[in-house]
Amino acid sequence: MGVNDILGRPLRDLRISVTDRCNFRCTYCMPKSVFGRDHAFMPRRELLSFEEIERVARVFAGLGVRKIRLTGGEPLLRAQIESLVSMLAAIPRLELTLTTNGALLARKAAALRDAGLTRVTVSLDSLDDATFRAMNDVDFPVADVLAGIDAAAGTGLPVKVNAVVRRGVNDHGVVDLARCFRGSGHAVRFIEFMDVGATNGWRLDDVVPAAEIVERIGSVFPLEPAEAAYRGEVARRFRYLDGAGEIGVIASVTQPFCGDCTRARISAEGKLYTCLFARRGTDLRALLREQGASDAELHERISGVWLRRDDRYSELRTEQTAATPKIEMSYIGG
Ligand code: SAM
Repeated sequence: MGVNDILGRPLRDLRISVTDRCNFRCTYCMPKSVFGRDHAFMPRRELLSFEEIERVARVFAGLGVRKIRLTGGEPLLRAQIESLVSMLAAIPRLELTLTTNGALLARKAAALRDAGLTRVTVSLDSLDDATFRAMNDVDFPVADVLAGIDAAAGTGLPVKVNAVVRRGVNDHGVVDLARCFRGSGHAVRFIEFMDVGATNGWRLDDVVPAAEIVERIGSVFPLEPAEAAYRGEVARRFRYLDGAGEIGVIASVTQPFCGDCTRARISAEGKLYTCLFARRGTDLRALLREQGASDAELHERISGVWLRRDDRYSELRTEQTAATPKIEMSYIGG
């Protein structure tokens, strides 16, 4: 059933980007200087159709994938995304999640829950309205994202909150984020700013180490480390001593976890990548559309890619590698 790569890592998770478009222009992800009004996004026909995504997802499930995350761009911009969710929810033994900026979540939450989504992750970098509007760079108010979170929770969907922390930009608000979601049942995960892509001007100085984030929050709300829930869990979890829940930190820069990385990623146009920092992908769409591959052939090709995998970019990262050309986060999905 399952396949292990050269470093012994099993294939367990699949992230599927369903669009390269986004309604935010987060300065660290899709800066307006690059993704401005005249930026050419992919034409619709270039995107994998829902049927193509479902077929590929079933093959991945047959190779051991147990969790699929829909991402983007902004996945809620893809028309009828709930139809895709219900198609994927029909695949047995699969956890099905989606990462969103939350802008359209209040409108979509009930349909997503009804379609069979297991959980939703909402990206929210700051509770301070001015900071949030400046980071999303489309003047989107934080209150509307909070309303989306409430709407999702109101339908019974479990919610996680992800915050990317950049020094001097939003790091002053990490304790406020922790305070806001303590006791709510929604775990907040703080993510170190990564050198994804080539357009965000990443510098090591911008990274707030996860250890510092834990220390800052722990000095206000005492914390203790919690056990990893499963192999390959990217977040290190910490529990509030007073029982008000937990936070997570994703220390991909200061404490890389390539050794436990069980994730494959598919871009909106159907390229398969085995690392967020990859430069080249495998064209699954050509296999599906041009070569008319059977499921067995798809299985063979994907398992071949995984069997040959030996990437571990984050463990090898230096200031120099950070400047090498890489694909953008908005293309491959977070
Ligand atoms: N639009 C959706 C959203 O906002 O969640 C899904 C796509 S977005 C690319 C996924 C996640 O990647 C977001 O939480 C975003 O903050 C994060 N992200 C983007 N660039 C990043 C970077 N350089 N370092 C760390 N996280 C990043």
